[in-house]
Amino acid sequence: MKAEIIAVGSELLLGQIVNTNAKYISKCLAEIGVNVFHQTVVGDNAGRLKESIVIAEKRADLIIFTGGLGPTKDDLTKETIAAHIGKKLVTDLEAMESIEQYFQRTKRVMTENNKKQALVIEDAKVLPNENGMAPGMFLKNGQHFYMLLPGPPHEMEPMFINYGRNAILEILDEHQKIESRVLRFFGIGESQLETEIIDILDRQTNPTIAPLASEGEVTLRITAKHQSSSEAWRLIQQTEEEILRRVGDYFYGYDDTSLMQELITLLNKNNQTIACAESLTAGLFQANIGNFSGVSSILKGGVVCYTNDAKMKLVNVKKETLSQFGAVSKECAAELAENIMSILDSTIGISFTGVAGPDSLEGNPAGTVWIGIAQKNKTTKTYLLELASSRNSNRLRTVKYGCHYLI
Ligand code: ATP
Ligand code: MG
Repeated sequence: MKAEIIAVGSELLLGQIVNTNAKYISKCLAEIGVNVFHQTVVGDNAGRLKESIVIAEKRADLIIFTGGLGPTKDDLTKETIAAHIGKKLVTDLEAMESIEQYFQRTKRVMTENNKKQALVIEDAKVLPNENGMAPGMFLKNGQHFYMLLPGPPHEMEPMFINYGRNAILEILDEHQKIESRVLRFFGIGESQLETEIIDILDRQTNPTIAPLASEGEVTLRITAKHQSSSEAWRLIQQTEEEILRRVGDYFYGYDDTSLMQELITLLNKNNQTIACAESLTAGLFQANIGNFSGVSSILKGGVVCYTNDAKMKLVNVKKETLSQFGAVSKECAAELAENIMSILDSTIGISFTGVAGPDSLEGNPAGTVWIGIAQKNKTTKTYLLELASSRNSNRLRTVKYGCHYLI
């Protein structure tokens, strides 16, 4: 099978953005044995896009487009392809529903052009967009396959790895069953994880392994093909065991789970209760627990103690601790965790104190965070994080590290 990638977007031609989408897709296709002989970049222009399609059809079986699926006037990828192959655009009810839900959730008014996002090419298989509104598409017309993906990499990459790639594997061999499973890791970077398993990645043919990184987490999707589904699962199992022997310490769960979900399950299982003292996260940890129903049996409550004054008044942190060690210290983190546990009579106390950024504090650079974990009848533990991201990402990662250390 020969493939061509067409990246649509005038920003790419003006040098304003780098075509990372083509790099990402090419790498994934190489891993599953699909030859990419050409990559094309074309601006947001219907005439020139059509010319590119005509050329690609002469030299490729599969044409993958990225960009131009949005609601604005310059987004014309699906319209141009539909017109070129003589198909209509039809409303996809599921996509429409998820767009409506998005607007209800964010209490924003939906405009007419947002409805355009739910239009898909007739007969196309819809690829769900879990990080945005525009759905992707995959269809066959004559001898050619066409895949349409959104431009923003944080929408495109998960869509391709979770749906697009499997759709391609299916056409590579219709008689094979395709099974896949996602392994989720935390506390290890994508490049370190890849280094640890490089030989397994290098010799992969069946199963294939596709890494994806986002917000401090790395996932590996293992996909196996076989005439029998149980044999495909056996191949997955084998590869999974080999991977976990190397990097099992960082593994926390399968498929759609999350760190918080795993933590809640564990606390429930062990009849534990938790209380929280949050400084830089300002309630984010508790808000995240609160996203899950039925947590009243484990979450006692907690406080946001942003200032030193609040740490003393609400959580009884000693004045000397703050003057001697500062708020961003393991001593402060330990006291916060122990005190909140005893104030709320929980079995676990957790605290977060640090510098979200962008400015430094008490001589500590942005991203310096101490997490304290107190447990009934156990020595209190403290953990130092040295994060190097934006303010919100530092806060989000702090919450994830809290779950990670509790698990
Ligand atoms: P949206 O709904 O956001 O408009 P879209 O599918 O219409 O998405 P574009 O409008 O073409 O996509 O691009 C949106 C953004 O996605 C760009 O501003 C750019 O940041 C990113 N992007 C687009 N194409 C690429 C690419 N090939 N490589 C990397 N980033 C890209
Ligand atoms: Mg757009």
